[in-house]
Amino acid sequence: MIPRNHPRYRSLKMRESLAAAARSGLVSFEGLAAHGRGEAFDYLIGERTTASAADAERLAAQLILSAVRPVFSVNGNCAALAADEIAALQKRTGVAVEVNLFHRTGERMQQVADHLTAHGVEVLTGECERLVPLEHDRGLCLPEGIGSADLILVALEDGDRCEALRKMGRVVIAIDLNPLSRTARLATLPIIDELTRTLPAITEACGTEMAGDLHTLAASIDNQKFLADALREMRERLA
Ligand code: ATP
Repeated sequence: MIPRNHPRYRSLKMRESLAAAARSGLVSFEGLAAHGRGEAFDYLIGERTTASAADAERLAAQLILSAVRPVFSVNGNCAALAADEIAALQKRTGVAVEVNLFHRTGERMQQVADHLTAHGVEVLTGECERLVPLEHDRGLCLPEGIGSADLILVALEDGDRCEALRKMGRVVIAIDLNPLSRTARLATLPIIDELTRTLPAITEACGTEMAGDLHTLAASIDNQKFLADALREMRERLA
């Protein structure tokens, strides 16, 4: 039992719930390692949403509101950490939610979908096809989901799919605490912030931000600025 007044209560609770999710098969063991990398970068950024990340979260809201077919691509870590927050974002914006896994089995796909559904998320279902040119299983997606989305929100994953989606002309928002990752560097809009801080911030911003033209808005975003801002914040804390 972790005492509520423990200085690292939140972080320890997250670890506890991810470990339980790994034991149940919802999260892969590799996903635990990916979480550790995220924690390290969160430590460096001060475990808080920076002003620059808050700007990115407002921009993300504008992009989602501007998209005709926005899809949130959810993996095991993302579902285990933030099912309620995903449900709230979907309720506010109508964003479609599709499960996409690197360590994919039929059983795990169903387990992640069931977990999301139990938390009030409407999950897209259907027959997946290899519509994203990747040799591994994350290339598989639904024709009526990621396959035809104009905007894809990705979180906590490695960079090759982001690169492939960008080459396909899609707008990609990436939630990733590592400003050096390929995902963050290749996304239209990188959000260098922790997932469970980011999603409520985007949902809230959807109540105040306005829709515009998706591709005009996307073209105006300076991806490099958000990466540089995050690196500067980290350097300042190290000084
Ligand atoms: P790339 O190919 O993009 O360089 P990578 O090898 O770092 O990616 P993974 O090991 O799959 O990719 O890690 C997933 C990413 O998710 C890591 O960069 C990590 O910093 C980030 N991450 C992990 N947990 C969280 C979280 N809770 N919130 C935001 N980002 C997270």
